[in-house]
Amino acid sequence: MSTRENTIPVKIGNIQIGGNNQVIIQSMCDIKTSKIHEVVKEINECTALGAQMMRVSILDKDDAYAIKEIKKRVSVPIVADIHFDANLGILAIENGADKIRINPGNIGSDEKLKRIIDVAKKYDVAIRIGVNKGSLEKDLASSNLSEEEKLTESALKYIKKFEEYGFSKLVISVKASNPLLTIKAYRLMSKKTNYPLHIGVTESGYDEIGIIRSVSALSPLLLEGIGSTIRISLTHNPQKEIKTCVRLLHDLGLYENYPTIITCPTCGRCMVKNTAQIADKILEYMIQHKKNLTVAVMGCIVNGIGEGKNADIGIAGGNGLFQIFSHGKILKTTDEENVLNELYKLIDMY
Ligand code: SF4
Repeated sequence: MSTRENTIPVKIGNIQIGGNNQVIIQSMCDIKTSKIHEVVKEINECTALGAQMMRVSILDKDDAYAIKEIKKRVSVPIVADIHFDANLGILAIENGADKIRINPGNIGSDEKLKRIIDVAKKYDVAIRIGVNKGSLEKDLASSNLSEEEKLTESALKYIKKFEEYGFSKLVISVKASNPLLTIKAYRLMSKKTNYPLHIGVTESGYDEIGIIRSVSALSPLLLEGIGSTIRISLTHNPQKEIKTCVRLLHDLGLYENYPTIITCPTCGRCMVKNTAQIADKILEYMIQHKKNLTVAVMGCIVNGIGEGKNADIGIAGGNGLFQIFSHGKILKTTDEENVLNELYKLIDMY
């Protein structure tokens, strides 16, 4: 099996995917690419949150031309997402895309595929072969193979074709919207190829549905050493996707230097009305100021300080007052109005 350390590193702009590199976090813009100003803003916001690569959709020539200007104003590699039109893929590469993502099955013909490959070679640009359960070739879709074999066979067939054309700067994905199928497909794929795998659940959903579906598939894979880059696809903005990716990798021990927030589950003793909202503000502050601390937000003084004793700093509420503590030791008492400012002062000292 090719765990991520054994995959062939692929250079994409100023980063590498695969080999000993950390798992790369990516998302996809949800704005038409030709709206350059808005796209740049979105990419830079995602970058500030931890994105290391961003994908943009190329629907027409204006989108492809826009890559050139976008690249001047962002710091992460740009991946162009191409469907059906080989000429748009070529134009995206000529305009500076660091990688393109195609499903070779919908590009039309081997001749068109070869034209893309020739230009990718010329510009030294990587290609992701993105196979999806929903767009498998007809003969494979109707075959007697298992669902995971259909996905991997499709990817392997295209890998062979790329290699025959002398191209190996590849990243592979075999996505499905079902988490169990996703796990099976990537496990199988990792046994059959040394190219880095981009892992994700496609059309995973919104809110907790999308997050749970993605995390339930990606966690076992990541812990087994499968996956060199991830996207958590959510029906939200990409900023939310990036935050979720970073949180997942951090909680699995695959991303260091990121804040941890602990909140009590609340119970009948809780004296803090908006525990979750307060915690979210503190987390945002720590992300923004790059503070790699564990902070606890606890609903009562009676048990909160003891229950939050593993935190670097914590607050516990009671009767309009808050106690600020560190590793179980009370540092000061303050009122609700000043608690966040007092806490931020302490966070800044770390
Ligand atoms: S810290 Fe207090 S409010 Fe929160 S769960 Fe524990 S006992 Fe309940």
